[in-house]
Amino acid sequence: MEPPLKAGALNPDRVAALLAGLDDRIKHLYLHLPFCERICPYCDFSTAVGAGADIQGFVGSLEKEADLLGRSGVLSFLEPQDGTLYLGGGTPSWFEPDVLAHLLLWINTVCGRGWIEATLEMNPEHADQERLRVLQKGGINRLSLGVQSLDRGVLRRLGRVHTPDEVLDAVAGARAVGFAISIDLIFAVPGQDRQGWCSDVEGVLALEPDHISIYSLTYEPGTPFTRWLGSGRIEALDDDWQAEAYRWAAESLRSEGYERYEVSNFARPGRASIHNQAYWDGSSYLGMGPSAHSLLGPVRTANHFSLRQWSAALMEENRVPWESIEALDDLDVARERVLLGLRTSKGLDLESLPSQYRQKVAERAGELVREGLAGWRDDSTLVLTDRGILLADLVAVRVAP
Ligand code: SF4
Repeated sequence: MEPPLKAGALNPDRVAALLAGLDDRIKHLYLHLPFCERICPYCDFSTAVGAGADIQGFVGSLEKEADLLGRSGVLSFLEPQDGTLYLGGGTPSWFEPDVLAHLLLWINTVCGRGWIEATLEMNPEHADQERLRVLQKGGINRLSLGVQSLDRGVLRRLGRVHTPDEVLDAVAGARAVGFAISIDLIFAVPGQDRQGWCSDVEGVLALEPDHISIYSLTYEPGTPFTRWLGSGRIEALDDDWQAEAYRWAAESLRSEGYERYEVSNFARPGRASIHNQAYWDGSSYLGMGPSAHSLLGPVRTANHFSLRQWSAALMEENRVPWESIEALDDLDVARERVLLGLRTSKGLDLESLPSQYRQKVAERAGELVREGLAGWRDDSTLVLTDRGILLADLVAVRVAP
């Protein structure tokens, strides 16, 4: 038996050697582009106000990251053919068209082309024809639009700068160019009422996107929203409101032909995000940019969260900007499979767990089935019921070894 990997003994060269031993190809690439026009008061992502930022410096650091990953050998395992590319942030669409053109040309040169799905996160106010053409030419074929709401008041409260009309224009423009379209919506925003949320869902359904993601607002530590919640300036909507809002939206989407393939994600048949599914399936992926994570065979890495530290690691210390590197053992793998698998409509296949944990997980799964929170699709696949989905994370923790 192989001795367990020790995190302290790991570095990019060693990770490349591990990947070679496993004959593992990396089919999924994530790039984190950390700039926004302004910072929304609920956001805890790694992002900075773009105005005045050193964009050239940022692009240079990203290129250096790829260079160092190339020198260690890790990048040679990236295989775009039939893989996926995802440009997230931040607001990737905030970049000027010439910067986007440069970035996409660089990615295609360094990593190759052939992505079956190449997504860019876009804010509706950026969907002008020039940008859309540049993205299409650079190989992007899917846009994830940060719509969040079609209600002016809710958008204002969320700190978003776009208007409902800009959403309609963005969808029409993106569709005319031929992009697959995904729309993000947020619910349980302070002051939102049931009627407003229903209008948002109906309004988005009328736009007929390929994919819709719905997220309830979360109060992350350190954000203005969390401070305002503490001081009583805003009031959170309670769990019952949220459960009812989610249930209603899920039912509306289902009745319009959208399949739920993960707790927050719904798609027309055949239009589920391949990139997101790779995360939930436990496939290897490479992340670059501040705060980006990677799963490289049995190793998980996390880049420095802050733009400054990430950039300093690359440009001053001349090293791959991994802040943490963790060797996953069987227990980590089993936990992750349970926590991610149960959020998906594919469910959790017990056969995919390391064998020593199957019995324990099966016993705990039996309790959920008796409580009506989950059911067996076949002899070994556990799927959550509609009731279980509402409590997905809590339920998964009960089953995890
Ligand atoms: S646009 Fe998105 S990434 Fe930027 S601050 Fe707002 S929520 Fe965060």
